This record gives sequence, C-alpha cells and structure tokens, in this order.
Amino acid sequence: MPLRLYNTLGRKTEEFIAQKPGEAGFYGCGPTVYNYAHIGNLRAYVTHDILTRVLRERGYTVNHVMNITDVGHLSGDSDSGEDKMVKSAAERGKTVLEIADFYTQAFYNDTDRMNIIRPNIVCKATEHIPEMIELIKRIEKNGFTYNAGGNLYFDISRFTHYGELALHRMEDLKTVARTEIDDNKRNPGDFVLWFTKSKFENQALVWDSPWGRGYPGWHIECSAMSIKYLGEQFDIHAGGIDHVPIHHTNEIAQSEAATGKHPWVRYWIHNEFLVLDKGKMSKSTGEFLTLQSLIDQGYDPLDYRYMLVGGHYRSQLQFSWDSLESARNSRKSLLEKIKTLAAQVPDTIRNNMILNISRRDTKNAEESAKIANCDQPSVPPCLCESSLLDILPDSPAAKRLAAFNEALDDDISTPRALAELWGLLRDTEAAPADALKTILYMDRVLGLRLETALAGEQETPEFIAEIEGFIAQRQAAKAVKDFKLADKIRNDLNQRGIILEDTKNGSTWRRKT
Ligand code: AMP
Ligand code: ZN
Repeated sequence: MPLRLYNTLGRKTEEFIAQKPGEAGFYGCGPTVYNYAHIGNLRAYVTHDILTRVLRERGYTVNHVMNITDVGHLSGDSDSGEDKMVKSAAERGKTVLEIADFYTQAFYNDTDRMNIIRPNIVCKATEHIPEMIELIKRIEKNGFTYNAGGNLYFDISRFTHYGELALHRMEDLKTVARTEIDDNKRNPGDFVLWFTKSKFENQALVWDSPWGRGYPGWHIECSAMSIKYLGEQFDIHAGGIDHVPIHHTNEIAQSEAATGKHPWVRYWIHNEFLVLDKGKMSKSTGEFLTLQSLIDQGYDPLDYRYMLVGGHYRSQLQFSWDSLESARNSRKSLLEKIKTLAAQVPDTIRNNMILNISRRDTKNAEESAKIANCDQPSVPPCLCESSLLDILPDSPAAKRLAAFNEALDDDISTPRALAELWGLLRDTEAAPADALKTILYMDRVLGLRLETALAGEQETPEFIAEIEGFIAQRQAAKAVKDFKLADKIRNDLNQRGIILEDTKNGSTWRRKT
C-alpha cells in the first residue's frame, strides 16, 4: 500500500507522490526562540520527526528544512501586539540575539532528549533578510502590495486563491471582527510584509530595504527560506493546526503571488494540539509545561515521546500527569519484555544487532554532517538495512511488520503501529531473533531508543565496536601470517573475559559465563 497523508489543502487523505521521484522536500515551521519550547510545541516536532522517518524508510531522500524565528513574530499572528523576541529580551535584560541563542540551544537540548532527529537544514530568519527582501520585491512587482502608514502590506483581495487552505470565504474576511484593528489595512485580512514604521520604539533589529529601514513581517520568512532551500514548488509543509487560518494561509498567498506557480506546496500536514486539563497551553502567557518540568518530576523524555506516539497526530491529546505515568509504565514494561526476548537470542546475533545500530548512527552522522548548510549533524536512520531480508515472508514477524507499515502508510497511524509492535512482542509463534530484529527495525520510525533494552550493563555500542575492532585487527594479522599478534589479541581479549570463536564466516565473540 502506498503512503497516504491527510492533506489540509482539500481536506482529504491522498497518496503521497513526490515531485521528484525518490526525493521529498519538507518544510516544518520551527520555534520562535523567545522562551523554552512547551510540551505542546514538542508534539509538533515529534510529528515532523516521525513523518521524516517514515519517508526515509519508504526510500525517500528527505530534505527537511526548519526555520528558527528570531525576528518579526508578534504576539498576535495577524500583526497585532508586541514583538515576542523584543519583549522577552527587555524582560530579561538581555539583547535579542542573546535571547535567541539561549533558547535555540535550549530547543536543541529538548529535541535531542526527545530523540528527534535534527533537520538537514536549520535556518534563522535574521540570516535570510536579503532573501525576504528579494521575495517581497517580486510580490510588489506582480501588483499584490500597497504602502500605508509606512508599512508594506499584502492585499489579499488581489489573490484569487486566498484562504483555500483554511476554507476562508472572502466575504467573511472583509467583515471579520478583530480585537485590534490596524487602520492602514484595506481589508482586515491584509498582512504586513515589511514594517518601516516600527510599532515599538525599542525595536532592536532593523535593516535597510527598498521600503525604508525596518524589519519583515512574520510570514515572509517561511516563504523566503523554504523557497531558497526547497525550490519554488515543493512537497510537504507542516506545522500545528493553529497555523492554518493565518500563518500558512498567508505564506501560500505571498509565495504564489511572487512566483505565479500554483500550488506552491502539494501536501499540508497539521498536528492537533496538546491541551492541558485546564485548557490551552500558551507560551506567551508563561503558563506551560516544559520538558525539563517533566524531567524534574522524575520522568524520562522518552516517556513523553511514548505518550505522544500513543496518540494520532491529528487527534487532540489531553495532557495529564496520570497519562504520563501510564506512558512511563508501558514504556518500562516494553523495555523489560524486550530484555526477556533478547535473552532468548544468542549473544553473537544480539551483539551484531547492537553493532549494526551503532555503525548506522555513526555512518549517518558523518554523512549528514557533510550536507551543505547543515548547522548541526543530524542522524537519519539508515536506508540500507539488510538484516530483515533473512526473515521469511510469511513468518509471524514479517506479518506484524507488514501490518506495522500499513498503519504508518495510513496517514502515519502511530497508535496502530505501536499496537503491532506490542502484538509481535506477545506473539509466541514468532522466532525470538526475528521478533527482536523486527522490533528494532520498527523503532527506527517510532524513535523510542528500544535498543537500550538490549545493551545491558556492558554491551554498549562503543564496547561492541571496540571488540569488533580487535577482531578486525586479528583478521588482518592472520592475513599477513603474523600469528604472534593474532594470538596476543585473542589472549588479551580472553583476559577481559571475551571468548573468540573462529567460524568459516569469520570470528564471533561472547562473554565467558
Ligand atoms: P511557536 O514556537 O509558538 O512558533 O510554535 C511552534 C510549533 O508548535 C508550531 O508548529 C505550532 O503550531 C505548534 N504548537 C503550538 N502550541 C501547540 C500545542 N499546544 N500542541 C501542539 N502543537 C502546538
Ligand atoms: Zn512558518
């Protein structure tokens, strides 16, 4: 079954067909770095992470781009309120750049702890002002803008497709009630492309532009950066459901107004909100839970990831300490069951599995570090895993894997996929080595770091890699008939409690019992 995704644009589930075969261009709206990410925001990034992992497992080379908003995002998405970055800097007695750097690092710290793979390209708004200016010039040249009160506005009435994503009707947009009306706007839904008259006297970051010294509106950064890194038309754009009516609607209008190409993006993916029992979580009011606050209560970041994976990304998820507690218990029991399963698998096979994971991570970390513009190396899962090939097609493990993949192909149904993983673990018909291999493979998408259940106290990937290194040295010594060195390596390992066994396919090792 092909991968199918629910597309907000058109409100239906559609087969994913990439613009360029084998490649997927994916832009996910990133954080506004004026405060810590809250656990609701982290739900959005786990959604992007799992989508990326699924695409990679389906054989796509994914170019995953994410922005860091460090300028221009006002407290109201439609140009009202204060600049979030400026406000936060003033409150904390820091510069805007200091605040941006601090919270960007805090963001990476959180996403790393949640085992979220870093995007290939992470781009900061403040480093792409020339690209934004160029894009605005194209929008202006095509006749979609007007100047008023010193600002440059986008005139939504000129754009025929305006509001298609959000199912807005133009008549409604003209009469829409706003808490804060900007008198410069011809239609209430118009939005700022470039502010020259600063709303705030203390606006820290301003740049020269054809419209005067000022700074960009919020939406233009995502259009400019995604077009720069993914081209004028690309495959997937994602964000939280709150971005549908304004931010993404305006991104589409600007991008298509500039390029004249429709549709700008083929698939729009939106995650539903994580809500507290009290109601909405809000970063700007400061009433929110961070990942650290969960850790402070004794939870592992992966308990929270487990909780998220247990829900479908398009269903609202209610956060409560009870639900986190139950996720923790389930994850603990999952790890214990995997440990019991692993005990039934011969040492050499199990160690090879751990080593495969470790080699894959190292190889991919090196490869992704080479990608141009990569701020930080990411660790995408491997595309070339062959260890599953020796599992018989009609075996219980293979059937569970097929059902697991089917669930993911059905608009990324992680709850069903997780249930298949559990089903395999409980399946007494499945051969232990097959079940273990398959479960580790499944975890490449779920990202729950299940291999930690296998590593035990001593068999860390580093330890296994070290032993494998000695085995390779010994092999090389034997090849040049240096049997003295070969024996020394064997004896040294023996002293450390490691027994080597030579087979016709090479050497294997196990611990002395
Ligand atoms: P922000 O840092 O506020 O720009 O938001 C970052 C991402 O988190 C965006 O994709 C938002 O749509 C998303 N988001 C914000 N609040 C929540 C929430 N409570 N649950 C899920 N996603 C959210
Ligand atoms: Zn965006």
